[in-house]
Amino acid sequence: MNRVHNFSAGPATLPVAVLNAAKQACVDYNGCGMSVMEMSHRSKEIVSLFDETKANILRLMNLSADDYSVLFLGGGASMQFAMIPLNFLKTSADYINTGVWSKKAIAEGKLVGNVNVAASSADKNFNYIPKEFSFDSNADYVHYTTNNTIYGTRVKDIPNVGNVPLVCDMSSDLFSRDMDFSKFDLIYAGAQKNIGPSGATLVVIKKSWVEKSEKDGNMTMLKYSTHIQADTMFNTPPVFPVFVINETLKWIESEGGLEAIEKKNNHKAGLLYDAIDNSNGFYKATVADKNDRSTMNVTFNLESEEKEAEFIKKADSLDMSGLKGHRSVGGVRASIYNACPLESVEALVKFMDDFRS
Ligand SMILES: *Cc1c(COP(=O)(O)O)cnc(C)c1O
Repeated sequence: MNRVHNFSAGPATLPVAVLNAAKQACVDYNGCGMSVMEMSHRSKEIVSLFDETKANILRLMNLSADDYSVLFLGGGASMQFAMIPLNFLKTSADYINTGVWSKKAIAEGKLVGNVNVAASSADKNFNYIPKEFSFDSNADYVHYTTNNTIYGTRVKDIPNVGNVPLVCDMSSDLFSRDMDFSKFDLIYAGAQKNIGPSGATLVVIKKSWVEKSEKDGNMTMLKYSTHIQADTMFNTPPVFPVFVINETLKWIESEGGLEAIEKKNNHKAGLLYDAIDNSNGFYKATVADKNDRSTMNVTFNLESEEKEAEFIKKADSLDMSGLKGHRSVGGVRASIYNACPLESVEALVKFMDDFRS
């Protein structure tokens, strides 16, 4: 087996143990004599797979099934940009603008109602996290993005929003660190960054918020209550992605849970940021404030676009793939999600040193 060092931003690297479990389940799921992709989602095996996955997610997040529902929806995180305002934006909602994904969420909100941008880092092309917020205490909700995949920034601390419901796009750092998840009314994440393959969007939503605040009049499929009442099987759910997500959850637990994962992530990111900061300016971190630096997407520049292209090409020839920055910002980006092994980060650090000299 020849696995390259995969620094892709998403879809992204998955643990080998998870891939091997998927391989097996693609032929014969749990001795059923058929693939996990060939079974009815109403079969007892798949219903129990879903129950187990939901329970594993809530346990990892320290949330109770009495308070929260776990849904696996289609349409990616991008569909949530629309579903959230459709269901909850009645008068006005607050959004923090920290980059492309926040902006897309804001754009959908504006199609539904009034959006108050409570803070923005657009003035510096999103290379920092705003520290001052002008929240409206009557807002229908506050929306923000924990980790800004493109710019390599992350919101470290949960903003204090008082009693206003808090909604968060955690697509690129969910389960990378421990957090007080009970502060949120709705958390969503496209699976393909940190928890599985593309094709499922994880939504963890507070039931009482839906009961109290969901708007009437939406199409059936676009209402959270539909999916909650049907136990996320209103229509055919993304069975195979959910299987892979559950294997990833088991892998996270085998690694020691969120606290241990967070430690490893801090260590991996620290190695890369040190290599950048100790390069006498050869590599320049795009995010100056260490508090704002992502542990999932490490972004940096070299002296010129030509040098960056040379760096990426040389890295590619050494089996280090996916280092090109997002097309909107250029530069270099190493995405080092949970499943990116320490060895890959060490190989990249060594290459950075070699390339510099
Ligand atoms: C990748 C990404 C998205 C888009 O996800 P889709 O599932 O492709 O819609 C949204 N938000 C963040 C933070 C992302 O990293």
